[in-house]
Amino acid sequence: MTDRPGATTLHQPDPRVRRVLERAELEGAELIRFLYADHGGVIRGKATSRSRLGERITSGIGHTVAMMAMNMLDQLQDVEHLGPVGEVRIVPDPSTYVALPHAPGAATMLSDLRLPDGSPWAACPRTFLKDAVAALGAEGYLLRAAFEPEFTLGRRLPDPTGGPDRLVPLDDSLCYAGTGFDTAHDYTIKLIRALETQGLRVEHCHPELGPGQQELSVHHATALRAADNHVLYRETVRGVAMRMAMWASLAPKPLPEQAGNGAHLHLSLWRDGVNVFGDDGVRGWFIGGLLAHLPALTALTCGSVNSFRRLTPRVWAGAYAVHGHDNREAAVRVCSPVGELGEPNLELKPSDSSANPYLSLGAVIHAGLDGIRRRLDPGEPVGVDPGTVPGRYPRLPTSLDEALDALEADETLMEALGPLRRDAYLAVKRSEAAAFAGRDAAYECFQHLRVF
Ligand code: GLU
Ligand code: MG
Repeated sequence: MTDRPGATTLHQPDPRVRRVLERAELEGAELIRFLYADHGGVIRGKATSRSRLGERITSGIGHTVAMMAMNMLDQLQDVEHLGPVGEVRIVPDPSTYVALPHAPGAATMLSDLRLPDGSPWAACPRTFLKDAVAALGAEGYLLRAAFEPEFTLGRRLPDPTGGPDRLVPLDDSLCYAGTGFDTAHDYTIKLIRALETQGLRVEHCHPELGPGQQELSVHHATALRAADNHVLYRETVRGVAMRMAMWASLAPKPLPEQAGNGAHLHLSLWRDGVNVFGDDGVRGWFIGGLLAHLPALTALTCGSVNSFRRLTPRVWAGAYAVHGHDNREAAVRVCSPVGELGEPNLELKPSDSSANPYLSLGAVIHAGLDGIRRRLDPGEPVGVDPGTVPGRYPRLPTSLDEALDALEADETLMEALGPLRRDAYLAVKRSEAAAFAGRDAAYECFQHLRVF
């Protein structure tokens, strides 16, 4: 046995692994990051050198179980089975290997958390999504999805009075304004090149409503790939900015007085190659499932304290549990297909980039599937701004604690999460709610823009 990468390449039985090793050598990747998303929604990982990749790609890198009890402030929570004793492995999925254009010499793979014997671990978020996809598949369906993220671009500057750093937006351009394309041009071109190189196809892009706010969406993919794509997207948006001495934040509300950053989730459901969201029946039941579970779902799709500063009426964030055709104030918008090749799809607006995308998309699948199984009636589509008819339409939770209460009361989602994952998620998220209670908006926004 030798550690030379060329030699380990030859002995790899799995062709996907062989291809990764060949690419790493050809492209001169010195460091390969194995990434996962935790219960705080934070993207974390460990990295290996190319010389050790041949072994690590199958064995993974050892990791403490406790990291799935860590919150977004790096405060470890007391969760049974997630203490100082116990080991998992961060095992990369070779089919996700990409060189990182914003970090020359580095590559990455999205990873599962596995037990030392290689079997799936009960707290692995990527496994949660895979299981949800399998449950949907068992009923004959396949979900395609895309996150539609917004972010705020600027510079991170120290506060002259010694307070938390400030995010100073890049510009004060107006929504969709030509000037906003120019102020952000150099960054945007680098970002698009970096995303396309990683296989994320950029759909469209525009200056958004708030100062420094941009939106750039990527083409839809099957559910697991869509969540993997969103992790790569978040890393790339931030990484490209850092290399340009800028700061980009996908936090739901990085600037308390300015527009929030959504990551609306677009969904289409397929059976035997046909998009069944073209059919009122299945689409209606799926919507019925989303709406029935929506208060609980928001604890996963809008996973941070900061999420609820964004999720308010009259900002097109979808603060009411209703659906409507092209209704941008409804939580579930039934989108008109665009162009000849456009596909009917649903847009879930209470969704942002502080969520763990594997948990959020997995939970969305369970909710929709429950709707299909029970043929849940979605009710009448709403054709007005629900916020203009006081008391008529159900408002979604207004705080993380309220959403967590709804999650704890939701038997379907609690069962889908399973005991270890739900205990850990609830402990981590309750601790975040407690940590920010009584703190001011500047502190909360800073902590979120630093992480997301
Ligand atoms: N920024 C809004 C949000 O937080 C969305 C605006 C839009 O419709 O694109 O969801
Ligand atoms: Mg937008």
